[in-house]
Amino acid sequence: MGNDHFPEVTVYESMRDKGVSRREFLTFCSIMAATLALPASFAPRIAEALEKKKKPTVVWLEFQDCAGNSESFLRASSPTVKDIVLDVLNVEYHETIMAAAGHQAEKSLNDVVKNLKDQYIAVVEGSIPLKDGGVYCCVGGKTAADIVKEVCGNAMATLAVGTCAAYGGIPAARPNPTGAVGVADAVPGITVVNLPGCPVNVENITATVVHFLTFGSLPSLDKHGRPLFAYGKRIHDNCERRAHFDAGQFVRQWGDEGHRKGWCLYEMGCKGPETFKNCPRIKYNEGTSWPVGAGHGCIGCAEPAFWDKMTPFYRRLPHPPGFGVEKTADKVGAGLAAVTGAAIVAHGIGRIVSGGKKESE
Ligand code: SF4
Repeated sequence: MGNDHFPEVTVYESMRDKGVSRREFLTFCSIMAATLALPASFAPRIAEALEKKKKPTVVWLEFQDCAGNSESFLRASSPTVKDIVLDVLNVEYHETIMAAAGHQAEKSLNDVVKNLKDQYIAVVEGSIPLKDGGVYCCVGGKTAADIVKEVCGNAMATLAVGTCAAYGGIPAARPNPTGAVGVADAVPGITVVNLPGCPVNVENITATVVHFLTFGSLPSLDKHGRPLFAYGKRIHDNCERRAHFDAGQFVRQWGDEGHRKGWCLYEMGCKGPETFKNCPRIKYNEGTSWPVGAGHGCIGCAEPAFWDKMTPFYRRLPHPPGFGVEKTADKVGAGLAAVTGAAIVAHGIGRIVSGGKKESE
């Protein structure tokens, strides 16, 4: 990059200078390999890359949003992740946290766009309103649509963090009064990685950048523009309550015995069987918990148009799609309930079959 404004230090140097030990650095590399769903043997390769690669310069734009993704980014409490986020990335512009304001702040942004064309990463938080000429969100006298076109259009890549930036999110919910869209729809044709979620998991931002630094390319994406390493698996398939689903043990009322025992939230409207994200594995707040872990069903916040498609949040999914075992199990469960008049509806044909054998033995 070679510009006096933008210090050229490697990721590892930056971490080391801030007191991160070699052991913590290597631990971080192992965590990143796991987050990227790579074998542990990739950790040394990640370490080698972070020792050599300069910190990429980032500008963070914020539009129609609740600032929850900035909170997620800044509230990481573990020294390892916190330091990595702020050390992997050289954040030159972030309206919410930067000390500069007004023209000085605008200069920081303009300097990056002008001096580092195709060399910086744009991070966008919040949706972009297009209706009525984009007047519903303006910063420094410019519309969000114009800013995103200029800044993301000149970036090496854009990370759309949070569901609003990825797909329009809650501002785009019917009737979408501001014509809100995500980055890819606001600036067609640019390179965008969607990292949806309410909020984004900071580990997924970091892992995306680490993937780029290590392999020289962005991670593989699904049809919704999301990295497969983070959004390639169903929440239902990694959920800690899955054994209760398979055993037909369901919460039927908030605060009932099943709820207190940590049973499955499917009957309470959990959307986990239709949603894709690595929440059960990496969780939030340094792995402390996640919505289902805390006793609330998944609301599908990382899916496109989730507010329109996933509501009502507390109504049971009628037919989890594409999985014959569960459909069959649902029917079997209904038949069982009719025969026995029991309150428990069995789900999971395997468990039903094995349970039936036991009873007959
Ligand atoms: S329905 Fe929800 S709570 Fe139950 S196992 Fe699936 S993801 Fe977990």
